[in-house]
Amino acid sequence: MHVKFHMYRCRVCGRYTMKEVHCGQPAASAHPAKFSPQDRYAKYRQREDGEIA
Ligand SMILES: [Zn+2]
Repeated sequence: MHVKFHMYRCRVCGRYTMKEVHCGQPAASAHPAKFSPQDRYAKYRQREDGEIA
């Protein structure tokens, strides 16, 4: 999954938004390491290895 738009998360209402400012406050970047594609591949590879072994 490719993220075309930079997503932000509002610190005030907690909603995801594409605007840098929400609820009159600068929103935080919504790209935590958890959602990184590299991490997902690593997880998938681990599971594959486990099935083979
Ligand atoms: Zn908000």
